[in-house]
Order: sequence, then structure tokens, then C-alpha cells
Amino acid sequence: IKNSAKPADAGKAITFEDIGGQETAKNELLEALDFIKNYDEISKMGIRPLKGILLTGAPGTGKTLLAKAASNYIDSAFISVSGSEFIELYAGVGAQRVRQLFKTARELARKNSKKHCVIFIDEIEVIAGVRGKNSNHLEYDQTLNQLLVEMDGLSAKDDDVKILVIGATNRPDILDPAILRPGRFDRIVKVDLPDKDGRLEILKLHTKGKPLAEDVDLEQIAKETFGFSGAHLENLCNEAAILARRAGEKVIRQCHFMEAIDKVIMGEKLKRKPTK
Ligand code: ATP
Repeated sequence: IKNSAKPADAGKAITFEDIGGQETAKNELLEALDFIKNYDEISKMGIRPLKGILLTGAPGTGKTLLAKAASNYIDSAFISVSGSEFIELYAGVGAQRVRQLFKTARELARKNSKKHCVIFIDEIEVIAGVRGKNSNHLEYDQTLNQLLVEMDGLSAKDDDVKILVIGATNRPDILDPAILRPGRFDRIVKVDLPDKDGRLEILKLHTKGKPLAEDVDLEQIAKETFGFSGAHLENLCNEAAILARRAGEKVIRQCHFMEAIDKVIMGEKLKRKPTK
């Protein structure tokens, strides 16, 4: 059985400053993380340690970035997996992978200075959808049951390490209520599409280091990009730079951003078109 866990991002560590907007999500997450940072104080107060946080929201809104920043904030080791990596045709394989994931997390935590590991499970709805609802439901149910067993086991007093599970989904509506029971994912953090101010912050982050012409008005671009996610805005900045280069320019002008907005919208429309 292959180990589905991937090592932490090889690139620069993501911090909360690298994430534009999402102030509510960041604050909720920070409060939860301070529980982990001040573990001894919290346990003296009789507060249950936090084991799971669920990030919900549209694709590309920064859930993965938030999980990475959270891990970095508590100086934790980090493992990232996707729910779809757990599902195989053969019964028992998914459950075995979940066991292996938590085993790897414990090993990484032991090597971590703070004895922490964050397990990030993207698309958690794939394994945590309502039990009994799937055509191959035995395999799905066993996988989810194993996740629940592992999460319930995290509080064991003799555990020398602290594991935090951060799940992400854009389908919270299909989750099995069992995973939301106290002591499992008991923090739900909504990660919404950015508002105008959030979009402006994201645009500032993604134009940092790009050569912008004097006429570039990021405020205006933020106004014109209602409904764009962070991922769309990142793509927009990249497209604008490509358009500028194609036009033989050394700097990116407002007109390139405006054209790029249309390109991103068009790309989304094409993606949504049903395939025959
Ligand atoms: P999915 O649901 O598709 O997994 P996600 O919510 O996890 O998406 P991310 O993977 O965190 O989204 O974001 C994708 C990319 O979009 C990031 O690498 C980043 O470039 C950009 N991005 C998204 N949100 C933000 C943000 N709030 N600030 C800055 N960049 C962002």
C-alpha cells in the first residue's frame, strides 16, 4: 500500500500575511490555533483540546493557503492529502490509508520541535460524505469510520504528540453529521468569496513584484471582479502580464487587466459548459 501522504510544500512557508482578505476566517482560525499554542493553560481550564477544523467555501478561496498558514503559525509539521486519494475499488484499502496517514503524522510530529503535525485533507467530502449513500458504500463507510476512530483516538492522554486535522470542502451539505460531532471537527470556518476590499488585498499580493504602469488602478479592478475567487484573481494577474508581454510592453497596463478580466470570465464559462 502506497503512502498517500505528501511532504510539506517545498517552497516558501505560507503565512497569514500571504492571504488577502478572509479576515473573519483568519480570526476564527487564529483563535482556534491559540488554543493549541497555549495547550497547558487551556487544559488547566478544563477546555477540550481542539482536534479538527473544517474549512468550507467555494473553490479557490484560499482554504489550502489557510491550512498551510495555520500549520506555520503553530510551527507544526504538515501533511497534505486529498480525499480522493483514499478511495479504491477494494474494500479496506481506504481505511488502511487513513491509518497510515495518522501513523505518518505521528512520526512527523515526533520529529517536530513542538511535537505538532497538521493533517490537511482537501475534498474531505469524498471520504466524509453521508455513510451508506454510495454505490461502493462499504469501502467509503470503512474509510470514514477509520477517520472517526483515528480522530477519537487523538485525545488519548498518553499521546506524546498533538495532531490537528484540518479538512476542506466546498460541499459541507453532503457531510456525514458524525464528523461534526463534538471532539471531531468542532470548528467550522467559512471561507467566502472575497468582497471588494478582500479582492483589492489579493490583487496587491499578486501584483507585488510585477512591473505595473502608472495607469493601473487596482481599486477599479477590484470593483470589476465581483464573484472572482482568490484563484481567479491570481490567474487574472498572470494573464494581464502575458497580454502585456504579447503586446511587446515592458509594463502591465490597465487595459491588459481589463482584457484579462474578460479572459478569466470566458474561461470559467467554457469550464461550465456541459460536455456532450
Ligand atoms: P480548492 O477548493 O479548489 O482546493 P482552495 O480554497 O484550497 O481551493 P487555494 O488552493 O488555497 O484555494 O488557492 C489557490 C490559489 O489561489 C492560491 O495558490 C493563491 O495563488 C490564490 N488565492 C486564493 N485565495 C487567496 C487569497 N485569499 N489571497 C491570496 N491568494 C489567494
